[in-house]
Amino acid sequence: MAEKLLKFVSLGRAMPDKRAASDRKQDFGEIYADFAARAAQSQASRCSQCGVPFCQVHCPLNNNIPDWLKLTAEGRLEEAYEVSAATNTFPEICGRICPQDRLCEGNCVIEQSGHGTVTIGAIERHVTDTAFEMGWVKPVKPKRELAQSIGIIGAGPAGLAAGEALRRQGYQVTIYDRYDRVGGLMIYGIPNFKLEKQIVARREKLLRDGGIKFELNFEVGRDASLDDLRQRHDAILIATGVYKARDLGGPGSGAKGIVPALQYLVAANRHGLGDQVEEFTSGALNAKGKNVVVIGGGDTAMDCVRTAIRQGAKSVKCLYRRDRTNMPGSQRETLNAEEEGVEFIWQSAPAAFLDDDNGHVRAVRAERIHLGMPDATGRQSPRVIEGSAFDLDAELVVKALGFEPEDLPQRLKAPALSITKANTVRVNWRNLSTTIPGVFAAGDIVRGASLVVWAIRDGRDAAATIDTYLQENARKAAAE
Ligand SMILES: Cc1cc2nc3c(=O)[nH]c(=O)nc-3n(C[C@H](O)[C@H](O)[C@H](O)COP(=O)(O)OP(=O)(O)OC[C@H]3O[C@@H](n4cnc5c(N)ncnc54)[C@H](O)[C@@H]3O)c2cc1C
Ligand code: SF4
Repeated sequence: MAEKLLKFVSLGRAMPDKRAASDRKQDFGEIYADFAARAAQSQASRCSQCGVPFCQVHCPLNNNIPDWLKLTAEGRLEEAYEVSAATNTFPEICGRICPQDRLCEGNCVIEQSGHGTVTIGAIERHVTDTAFEMGWVKPVKPKRELAQSIGIIGAGPAGLAAGEALRRQGYQVTIYDRYDRVGGLMIYGIPNFKLEKQIVARREKLLRDGGIKFELNFEVGRDASLDDLRQRHDAILIATGVYKARDLGGPGSGAKGIVPALQYLVAANRHGLGDQVEEFTSGALNAKGKNVVVIGGGDTAMDCVRTAIRQGAKSVKCLYRRDRTNMPGSQRETLNAEEEGVEFIWQSAPAAFLDDDNGHVRAVRAERIHLGMPDATGRQSPRVIEGSAFDLDAELVVKALGFEPEDLPQRLKAPALSITKANTVRVNWRNLSTTIPGVFAAGDIVRGASLVVWAIRDGRDAAATIDTYLQENARKAAAE
């Protein structure tokens, strides 16, 4: 390693390097890979194998973390990958975007004892990235082909995880999605700086190579009803996610330049993927040179502020009505945003939006909030402080107030599909079945806006119960 580093330093400084740029790049790549491998091994060896794996308990996939940390520490990466992949369909994705501070790492006993967590997510990512590089990750190869087919609505993590597990059993799987790309919010919601799009595309290729069929630009409710699909397949999984943005009223809220978070993020992601995005090119959904105010305190708000910084915004402010401790978003993300130059305006809420002569927003009028006594839910109730109004310059305002499910029975033209008060699909939690026989549901559309790791968990669980359902049907048919 030291030799390689010396070589690297000398390449850059002392000796003029006449070799091709690609060779130099390769050298750097090797040094980086070596460094990353050693860092992962040394981090993994910090795991005390404590015997009370709170990290595992707090991982939604119940990943066998202590075992793959031990294998990584011993340099047995292929085995570490196998153990990790046994419970997680996309470990390299979770390693990148799980809010580990709220899940595995936040519950690591070393963290609890004040010595800093083992960086579980980074190791998970390293192990799986290495597995891809070494060719250990292979497309699924079912032992036998089964005649039954499953139609999955939604190519997000829930649909993909279920599809992979069902294909592994030998079922014929078709995944329908209204978007033109596979990945759901992993492609169009989560920014590239958190999850590189080629990581999702790499998985898509693997799933296609394993025999999963995709029907993209196919919107259920427009191109076919749920009932049509039910006729085509032996079982259906609804994994459509939640997309109805919570809105904001108030004087001036209809001004130009006030946009929903997902519209802003989709434009940024599409632009990054090389698509021609008219609203990005025109500047309508581009923060470059603008004063930007993002309203909200969740992970989506953090993605918006950090995207705006990367687009070259003049200033980026995040307006949140509660304080830092009550913020729903990850503390780690908030810290990252602060380090990148985002200013947080805590305990403040928008009261009005001021526009210019062209009807375009020019400022947000905000008011200070006092946090009162906790209510029945335990959260302090916010109250506006009279006479506390102040203005923040803003040529772009992004509303990041969270998402709710759309009216799915209406959208899918499926009146028999029962939904809850929160508009999520009503399921029997024991087997994720809906009120329509042979139709199951998983992911955000069942839980409400959640996390990729929970979507994967639900997808895997749904696949297991769909398998049981189809096997029972086959047994009954054979007995008749
Ligand atoms: C901006 C943002 C950032 C996030 N960051 C993180 C993060 O850092 N870490 C994390 O763990 N989670 C994050 N999340 C949450 C995470 O992305 C979701 O919890 C997860 O993607 C849900 O998976 P899903 O498969 O249920 O739904 P989705 O990923 O939403 O996928 C649903 C798919 O269904 C398709 N669909 C919907 N209706 C139809 C229809 N009628 N016909 C055909 N197709 C349809 C959609 O096009 C979509 O592709 C973030 C969410 C957002 C919005
Ligand atoms: S899946 Fe997420 S919570 Fe589980 S070990 Fe990996 S990073 Fe941690």
